Amino acid sequence: MKIESGTVVSFHYTLRNEAGDELESSRGSQPSVYLHGANNIIRGLEKAMAGRESGAVFTVSLAPEEAYGTHNPARMQRVPVKHLAYRGKLEAGKVVQLNTAEGMRAVTVVKAGRHSADIDGNHPLAGQTLTFDVEITELRPATPEEISHGHAHGPGGHHH
Ligand code: ZN
Repeated sequence: MKIESGTVVSFHYTLRNEAGDELESSRGSQPSVYLHGANNIIRGLEKAMAGRESGAVFTVSLAPEEAYGTHNPARMQRVPVKHLAYRGKLEAGKVVQLNTAEGMRAVTVVKAGRHSADIDGNHPLAGQTLTFDVEITELRPATPEEISHGHAHGPGGHHH
């Protein structure tokens, strides 16, 4: 079978940035599992998966627009430290929780002061061109339940 809408895909991946540094890898643990055609993974990767067969090995390079989006300067702001939840010392590069009207949101500290902090609300991988080395390990048709939920169940998938 080939990957199309309604296929549950298991795959191993290694993610690298433009400099070639490894950012994440599923190697050494369970493969990732997703339901194709349900927006469960980033757009560019899902597009590159379409039509592939089990056992396929490939590399795909994704521009920010196809990955975690471009870096939006409007998402950088100065906030009172009391709106941030964190452990330890507040310092540049630390990922902390920002208390917003819509709930807690992960942000990255750019500069920390005594009473206020400059934070960046963009995804940490926003603005980056990313390369995925992918190996497709298993394909199966989704169950009607998975299709109606919009995600894969079982090992590597959602548990209810
Ligand atoms: Zn479900």
